[in-house]
This record gives sequence, structure tokens and C-alpha cells, in this order.
Amino acid sequence: VFPNPNAPTGIALPSAAIEEILQHNPESLVVVDEAYVDFGGETVLPLLKKYENLIVVQTFSKSRAMAGERIGFAIGSVELIKALHDVKYSFNSYTMNRSALDAGTAAVQNAAYLQETTARIVKTREHTKQVLAEMGFRFPDSKSNFLFVTHPDCDAHELFEALREAHIFVRWFDSPRIRNYLRITIGTDAQMESLFAFLRAYLKK
Ligand SMILES: *Cc1c(COP(=O)(O)O)cnc(C)c1O
Repeated sequence: VFPNPNAPTGIALPSAAIEEILQHNPESLVVVDEAYVDFGGETVLPLLKKYENLIVVQTFSKSRAMAGERIGFAIGSVELIKALHDVKYSFNSYTMNRSALDAGTAAVQNAAYLQETTARIVKTREHTKQVLAEMGFRFPDSKSNFLFVTHPDCDAHELFEALREAHIFVRWFDSPRIRNYLRITIGTDAQMESLFAFLRAYLKK
């Protein structure tokens, strides 16, 4: 079970890499969580035709900005979905309410709106990459709606605290291999400009 693009790195595996995982693990169920796929990842939905051990899950909570509606879906073989239903109905049916169904249906029907909003975030993300790289930040090439950054001259936790003081909220994870990284979610252009201004001043100190 893994997200693709991944969190918190933002790295996207190409379909070929996931196909290799499927080929080498025919006895295992492989669940690809495509929560961030609309921001530039490549969906593995086409692989469902070839691999019966694959389940693809997506959510309406990110690219569709509908977290409060609690809408998501799993796509897999008839057999696997039947097994999911058997388990699900045995402890909680998690039915969706009528308004969530209507809102979700409308969202799926409006592909142009999704395209427009995700394109806006991708554009801001690419610009943010450029600006942060010029400031000396390093990061994997994210295909998600966040960047996972580190800077050779600053301590990520200190920067995290300083940002919070300035009411700029990013994520810092107290975990050994990623303690010197911050996950910065892509906001509006104006929000990113505030971040850039803060960082320019901070790095000069
Ligand atoms: C947000 C997210 C989800 C789905 O969240 P829900 O709001 O419960 O649909 C799943 N996987 C990852 C990696 C996420 O970031």
C-alpha cells in the first residue's frame, strides 16, 4: 500500500515501476493510493486490465477540494471489490449521504473545472520550485501539491518555528531521516509571495 505520487516527498513513480512491483508480487494485493494524481502523476488505472492483484484508490479530498464530503473510491477486479464489500458491510457500511453523492456527481461531470484548478496549482508549484531553488533549497521533483524541501544552511525545525511565528504554516516531521525537511503546501500566488518574502529576509540573517 503506497501513495503515488508519494507523500511527503511528492515523487511520482512511472507506471512501468509499479508494473514491476505487480509482476514481482503476484500473490500480494497491491494498493496504489492516487490521492495526488491529478497534480501531475500518471494513473495506473490502465494496468487494472492486466493485473488482478491491483486496487487503485482515489479521493475527492485534494484536487477536488471536497474533503468535508468524505468521497473516495476504489477500483479493482470484481472479485476484490466483492471482498471489500464483504468486509465493509460486516462492520460499518459507510454509506454516502444524498448531498455528497450529488456534489460528487457534479464534480465528476465538470472535468473543465478540475483541469482549470489543478493547472493553476501546478503553475504555482513550478514557479515555487524555481524561486526556492534560486534561494538554495533542495527538493525532489514533486508532482503533488506540496514541495518537500531542505536547505544546506538552515535547520528545518528552527525555520519551521520562525515560519509559525509569522503565521505561515508548513509541516515538519519529527522523524530521523526527514528531520531537516519541511513540507510546504502550494497555496495561492499571493500566499507563496508572502512565503518568499519571509524566506528572503530569513536567509539574509
Ligand atoms: C488525503 C489523503 C488520502 C485521502 O483522504 P480522505 O480525505 O480520507 O479521502 C489518502 N491518501 C493520502 C496519501 C492522502 O494524503
